[in-house]
Amino acid sequence: MPEKIVAVKGMNDIAPPQSAHWEWLEDKLRALLQRYGYRNLRTPIVEHTALFVRGLGEVTDIVEKEMYSFEDRLNGEQLTLRPENTAGVVRAVLEHALLHDGPKRLYYMGPMFRHERPQRGRYRQFHQFGVEALGFVGPDVDAELIVLACDLWAELGLTGITLEINSLGQPAERLAHRAALVAYLQAHADQLDEDAKRRLHSNPLRILDSKNPALQALVNAAPRLLEHLGPQSLEHFERLRALLDANDIAYRINPRLVRGLDYYNLSVFEFVTTQLGAQGTVCAGGRYDDLFAQIGAKAAPAVGWALGMERILELLKEQGRLPELPQPDAYAVLPDAAALAQAMPVLRTLRQHGVRVHMHAASADGLGSMKSQFRKADASGARFALIFGADELQQGMVALKPLRGPRADDASAPAAQVLRALADASAWATELSRA
Ligand code: ATP
Ligand code: MG
Repeated sequence: MPEKIVAVKGMNDIAPPQSAHWEWLEDKLRALLQRYGYRNLRTPIVEHTALFVRGLGEVTDIVEKEMYSFEDRLNGEQLTLRPENTAGVVRAVLEHALLHDGPKRLYYMGPMFRHERPQRGRYRQFHQFGVEALGFVGPDVDAELIVLACDLWAELGLTGITLEINSLGQPAERLAHRAALVAYLQAHADQLDEDAKRRLHSNPLRILDSKNPALQALVNAAPRLLEHLGPQSLEHFERLRALLDANDIAYRINPRLVRGLDYYNLSVFEFVTTQLGAQGTVCAGGRYDDLFAQIGAKAAPAVGWALGMERILELLKEQGRLPELPQPDAYAVLPDAAALAQAMPVLRTLRQHGVRVHMHAASADGLGSMKSQFRKADASGARFALIFGADELQQGMVALKPLRGPRADDASAPAAQVLRALADASAWATELSRA
């Protein structure tokens, strides 16, 4: 036997019944975003490698070691499976001049790829849902995006998610801070770990979000970026805070929150939970007014965030907030294959009326006995069995047998629906068997 082929490490199949939870979450996200006036943008999963190198910055974790990059064997192009989607959104917006008639509010969802060490909440193919507000200077849309995320947690019934915010100021302010930071870290060089030593000159800001416990005291006492902000940056930050206060949104200022990517400025934020172990950031984002210029176009202000779908679903599970899976309203029992020709059109009509009907279909040993079909009907969770028996068919009727009591969601009355739809199905009378 040939060797078994399995999925690539860190890349997961999403099968039923869990896939229903994904669909539910996706629907919730879409519905909320539409209420906020955001519209969907879909970009390719593969982009030119140069887009991410230029957009994310050469000395970021992603570009240095996490990207799935390859050469297209057919034409030699350097390509990358997208590790995030902000760069792709900006590329698409530029390519199609989507800002020509004013700012845009956009959202996306889909798979992202990063070669990381797979563990709980961290995968090599994972899924993000993200929003981008392009062409607005803020801080009003910065606040809008944060409020939107909070509304989402409420909508999903999630609790225990805290907001951390910070300001990264503007590049010149970061440069001044960087000099002070490097001087400070150099003065304590003996306390730095390997990672920090490596970053000291390439990306010292990232040392601030080091997770190494041995570095915490050093990092906590380091010069703060907030102290190097000029009046304009400070005003942006203060106005954002005032809008969060006006919306009753609690937050913590985390001076060490620097985000992993080079393109951020001014507002940055993360939503974190303590309920997911080490991978506690469920949503993260910030302002990136320099990305358009960095990618090589006329500057345009922008702000966005992305959430990790796997982490949100894990948290929903942890908090018992995943919905019951949808079950069929009815299961069609077919005593004889001869009934199919009459039964199938009825089932179609029912579905056209919004009824969820599951049709019993033959397996290798045929349709099976009535008894085994009823067992399947029951196991399907259906509220009713629809019995297409020979006697009923002869009279142009179908028997409807309740398999279980009314459901909690009977406000939407599957029973009434089934009956009404049956009555609408032309040429078919109905009969309710209460057996
Ligand atoms: P982390 O610090 O956890 O590595 P990050 O800063 O690299 O996160 P972002 O690039 O900001 O993450 O992505 C936004 C969100 O996407 C994260 O907050 C997280 O919820 C999710 N995410 C990022 N990387 C992964 C991954 N490898 N597997 C699953 N979810 C991820
Ligand atoms: Mg990461």
